[in-house]
Amino acid sequence: MLAQLKPSTSFQAFFRYRQVADKILITNFEGNFLLLTQEEFKRYAEGDVEEESELYKRLDAKNFVRKTYRVADAVARMQARKHFLHAGPNLHVMVVTLRCNETCIYCHASRANMDAVHTDMTPEIAEKSVDIALSTTNPFVTIEFQGGEPLVNFEVVKHIIEYAREKNKSLGKNLEFTMVSNLSLMTEEKLQYLLENRVQICTSIDGPEKLHNAQRKLATMDAFQKAVFWIKRINQAYEEMGLDTTLYHCEALMTTTKATLPLWKEIVDTYVNLGCKALFLRPVDPFGFADRTRLKIEYPRSAYLEFYRNAVNYMIELNRQGVEVLERFAGIFLTKILQGQDPNFLDLRSPAGAGVGQLAYSFDGKVFTCDEGRMLYAMGEDTFHLGHVDTHTYRELVGHETVRAMVLASNLDSQPDCVNCAYNPYCGTISATNHKAQGSIFGRMRENNVCAVHKGIQDFLFEKIATADQELLDIFEKWTTIRAREHFVQDSEPANAAS
Ligand code: SF4
Repeated sequence: MLAQLKPSTSFQAFFRYRQVADKILITNFEGNFLLLTQEEFKRYAEGDVEEESELYKRLDAKNFVRKTYRVADAVARMQARKHFLHAGPNLHVMVVTLRCNETCIYCHASRANMDAVHTDMTPEIAEKSVDIALSTTNPFVTIEFQGGEPLVNFEVVKHIIEYAREKNKSLGKNLEFTMVSNLSLMTEEKLQYLLENRVQICTSIDGPEKLHNAQRKLATMDAFQKAVFWIKRINQAYEEMGLDTTLYHCEALMTTTKATLPLWKEIVDTYVNLGCKALFLRPVDPFGFADRTRLKIEYPRSAYLEFYRNAVNYMIELNRQGVEVLERFAGIFLTKILQGQDPNFLDLRSPAGAGVGQLAYSFDGKVFTCDEGRMLYAMGEDTFHLGHVDTHTYRELVGHETVRAMVLASNLDSQPDCVNCAYNPYCGTISATNHKAQGSIFGRMRENNVCAVHKGIQDFLFEKIATADQELLDIFEKWTTIRAREHFVQDSEPANAAS
């Protein structure tokens, strides 16, 4: 039918379109959308819509009619969607050591064995990293402890927390700490410290016990049991502290490998049984592992999207039965699509967050645009290396020509395919991933794995919206709710931890 259209250019305001199931999705510059029947789309495209018609009212309400286009409404909506611009980096990833006691099949370049003590961050490097992090123009600062395994260098984690809290007394930033840990080296003493100092704890669960222990190897082959023990202990502690456990619980992340794909139901059940309210079905990154490993763990993105649909359809069914569980990609996209807000997920925004939303500090003081850039450096690629905490100022780092180039490259309005894509208002591209996979920070979206994932997920979500009953719309609405976790914002006094 599209080939037979006789488009008029005088009726429509600017729009992009895409076929979704038997409907035509139209989106505009500021991110409004409508799902039209083929017949409605033909009338819209040809300018054959009478002013008294129901279709006209729908188009006009969402700002798709040129004659009545409301610039002020579009500006307000764009401001809400791009609130992160001009703020400066809020996420500061600190790699306190490369040492790790687990060996994960998808992680080689960004870890070292337990005897590699020379990969521990020193207190001096830690202080200089905090000095730069707190120089950001962003009033919100999150310091994220990464590794390696951050619990291996716990003394420096503590030093960073105490130094940053002290320094922030005169700066007054909205300061938060997050730790990404496999939890296998957690002790009650360390946990009490983290709880008292309001550090948010996040771990990895790759799925059921057998899969997790096969992918994340501990010498004792009990990585799953250890992670599960501490997830439950952390959640219990939050409950004892009187915190709302819907909002406050140990977050878990998974990495989807080839072995994960048939286990979509078991994976969702594992998370639900652990009391996790959210799953992030992340595809494997092209970082950190050797090419021979790639053959074992990689998969076509069409297979990933089938896995994603199965898992999310199952999660929707569970929600219909009263189980609260959401998928994070879906939550991020739906917040943009249904609420017109941007949750500022750094890899899924335009421009992306590398250098302007985040900085990564390696154990040795080198500073990178993002954690992916740091991993590429470990693989011999120095494109994303901005400087060093000893020799570079905050302004020199964020004003680096690489940061400027990445802002241009991840602006979807300067990407040849994205500029015409109906998903442009909700999407994002990752320059470091593009560089690794396609040899250019711009990438080529038609053969780009991240684009394929983003496009496939948005196709799925719009198909669901097109046929949704009220109950599903209510579930999606719940998935978009952003509630601030005020407890993790630092104040001058430590919290009372549960004992
Ligand atoms: S990355 Fe792909 S799905 Fe996203 S806007 Fe660009 S072309 Fe569209």
